[in-house]
Amino acid sequence: MENREQNKRIYLSSPTIHGEEQRFVKEAFDTNWVAPLGPNVDAFEREICEYTGAGYAAALDSGTAAIHLAVKLAGVKEGDIVFAPSLTFSATCNPIVYEKAVPVFIDCEPDTWNMSPQALERAFQKYPQAKAVIAVYLYGTPARIDELMEICAKHQVPYIEDAAESLGSRYKGKQTGTLGKFGIYSFNGNKIITTSGGGMLVSSDGEAIERARFFATQARDKARHYQHSQIGYNYRMSNVTAGIGRGQLLHLDEHIALKRAIYDRYKEAFADIEEITMNPLNPDGEANCWLSCMTIREGSSVTPDMVMDRLAEHNMESRPIWKPMHLQPVFEKNDFFTHDGGKDSVSGRVFESGLCLPSDIKNTQEDMDQIISLVRGVFGK
Ligand SMILES: *Cc1c(COP(=O)(O)O)cnc(C)c1O
Repeated sequence: MENREQNKRIYLSSPTIHGEEQRFVKEAFDTNWVAPLGPNVDAFEREICEYTGAGYAAALDSGTAAIHLAVKLAGVKEGDIVFAPSLTFSATCNPIVYEKAVPVFIDCEPDTWNMSPQALERAFQKYPQAKAVIAVYLYGTPARIDELMEICAKHQVPYIEDAAESLGSRYKGKQTGTLGKFGIYSFNGNKIITTSGGGMLVSSDGEAIERARFFATQARDKARHYQHSQIGYNYRMSNVTAGIGRGQLLHLDEHIALKRAIYDRYKEAFADIEEITMNPLNPDGEANCWLSCMTIREGSSVTPDMVMDRLAEHNMESRPIWKPMHLQPVFEKNDFFTHDGGKDSVSGRVFESGLCLPSDIKNTQEDMDQIISLVRGVFGK
């Protein structure tokens, strides 16, 4: 096993570049259109809309910037409450604080690892004045979106979809990110497609996307001179970056097929080990399977650290499940609603018992064999 091509590193999820990206980037160089906006940006926005069925899109320099503008355009103001998932990456929640609003965290439910509708309902009972809900589709698995959106409609607040990890995933046939008031995608280096770094804000509200473009380019009023009536940001994607994205988008379906094959492979390979459960997939959706994760049954003598250590010894990258926001020092004082209303949280349990397995689409069948045999070995199989 040590001889794997000089012990090459096996990644969790690294960029997979195909060559077509260079065609679009070269075009940008050849026309000296390297910055700022330009034809690649317009085309990338159009192509994301065509792929996802979104009405309008604004290409931005990160997914985090897209979430920030979604929060702002949803009308969230200083002191407002915004409901956000606990089990996620901090980038889902930080933009709420950029606007001086207060995130209140909602536990996940066990069937999708995403926002628990029953916990959300309870949160609205305590905070009927809440201004918005941001949901996430963790590791590519869609949430119980209909139930969450019904609750939002009842309380008349916008539903924002953090689809950073779920580009290409569907829920009841529709693309995640296109169902709520706003959707956001990320093209960070480890996501299912990448622009090296970047993001997209999508919405069926064309005027809102126009506003997003305005705020993303320093909130410059329509005037010949530099005139500003509001505070803006420098959030736009560059024409070079967008070129990478256009080339990547041509391979999104292929990436999804490979990611799903990785998930299926793990699921089958661990089927006989009762202590292992793979991350859930929503039966109402088709996940892009961005990362394959497993949890270890309570009472097992194996811990996630033991599995991660074994893989690391063989130069294989794995990582813990996102540490829930309600357990983060920075959000210590923020309120939190558990799934069943009791003391224990589902997100805490998933965090403690789980890990993300190497899910890089460049891993070969032999790489997969080796990862699987190492993990099985930790369980004495
Ligand atoms: C990656 C990610 C983001 C942030 O995207 P960036 O493009 O890195 O800013 C937001 N939310 C989730 C759930 C993510 O995984």
